[in-house]
Amino acid sequence: MSEDDRRSGERRRRWRQQTRMVRDGQVRSPHGETAEAMYLTSGYVYESAEQARDRFKGDADGYIYSRYGNPTVTMFEDRLAALEGAEACRATASGMSAVFASLMCQLNAGDHVVASRVLFGSCHVIVAELLPRYGIETTLVDGPDLDQWRAAMRPNTRCVFFETPANPTLELIDIQAVCEIAHEAGARVIVDNVFATPLLQKPMELGADIVVYSATKHIDGQGRVLGGAILSDQKFCDEELIPLYRHTGPSMSPFNAWVLLKGLETLELRVARMCDNAAEVARMLAETPGVLKTLYPERPDFPQAELYRRQMSRGSTLVSFEVEGGREAAFRLLNALETIDISNNLGDAKSLITHPATTTHQRFPPEEREAVGITEGLVRMSVGLEDVEDLKDDLRAAIAAI
Ligand SMILES: *Cc1c(COP(=O)(O)O)cnc(C)c1O
Repeated sequence: MSEDDRRSGERRRRWRQQTRMVRDGQVRSPHGETAEAMYLTSGYVYESAEQARDRFKGDADGYIYSRYGNPTVTMFEDRLAALEGAEACRATASGMSAVFASLMCQLNAGDHVVASRVLFGSCHVIVAELLPRYGIETTLVDGPDLDQWRAAMRPNTRCVFFETPANPTLELIDIQAVCEIAHEAGARVIVDNVFATPLLQKPMELGADIVVYSATKHIDGQGRVLGGAILSDQKFCDEELIPLYRHTGPSMSPFNAWVLLKGLETLELRVARMCDNAAEVARMLAETPGVLKTLYPERPDFPQAELYRRQMSRGSTLVSFEVEGGREAAFRLLNALETIDISNNLGDAKSLITHPATTTHQRFPPEEREAVGITEGLVRMSVGLEDVEDLKDDLRAAIAAI
């Protein structure tokens, strides 16, 4: 059977999710390599002057320059698009370049953006500080409060942006309800789906127009490379995103695309185990004296347990908790850990822990921090792939040391 026959086969069209993550997107070279080829090239050569002309005009398929596209990057884009169920995907150098490009490609001076208040630190900087410098007004709302979303919509509202579960409180936002409010106002919805991963929550099925990822997190999942992605329909990608993307250069390196392609192959296995570990860590923390509050969406005592059941399939790989004694106690806890590392990264095979108020959310005004629940005693743990009993031993001993 030829490679072309195999690629168009009936069974292939019916592939289930995990098979697609191992196999989708791969285009083999004439060498027949098993693993995806890594095309470390910035440019491409043409067979003739006519071919170069036709590619530049868009009349012929083929690569032109790796700022526009690269075969290894395309393989990653196609595999992630298949997983998300999106028509189009563009890979970016980092999660932040995905967030920035997804907003900037469609906004003009005089437009208005509505975003949730609890955001990843750099996303907050883009929305609250950078966009206003270019004449784009922004309104921040309390994400779970639908009345605030409704009240914030204006005739010039072009985009709505939020993350759910949100960093670091794991607060949830009702994706379907916010999409309905935004669409009625004529605005597009961008969801930063990093904490849920493409596996635990499908924002497009709930109405989102655009989904963005930091692939640095679970998709790599082994702390090696930066990457990001923007998923959307084909029309938005072709008409709005690509004109900005091609000329401003947020492109992903082919090496990183190759690492992330291999990450997608094991994403489901890793995320499933990390969620099991996170649920078990949350269960232990909730029963530990000195822990005032444990936040994990899968728990029945989670404040938004009903919304969790409607839009997520697992509680994520993150657990946040508040210790008695504020900042001093939180620092003592972090410093007493022997297995879990202090790091603001997340989604890694290694369990990591951070104190948001003094790191990722240091730039937030203190009153705003307290108002959204980022207290001085709050710590956020990204639960990894270690044996969960070792993680529990480490946490128990460090909490006792407070
Ligand atoms: C990490 C992260 C980003 C930014 O991604 P980078 O790859 O670090 O640029 C954006 N949003 C969320 C929710 C994140 O966790």
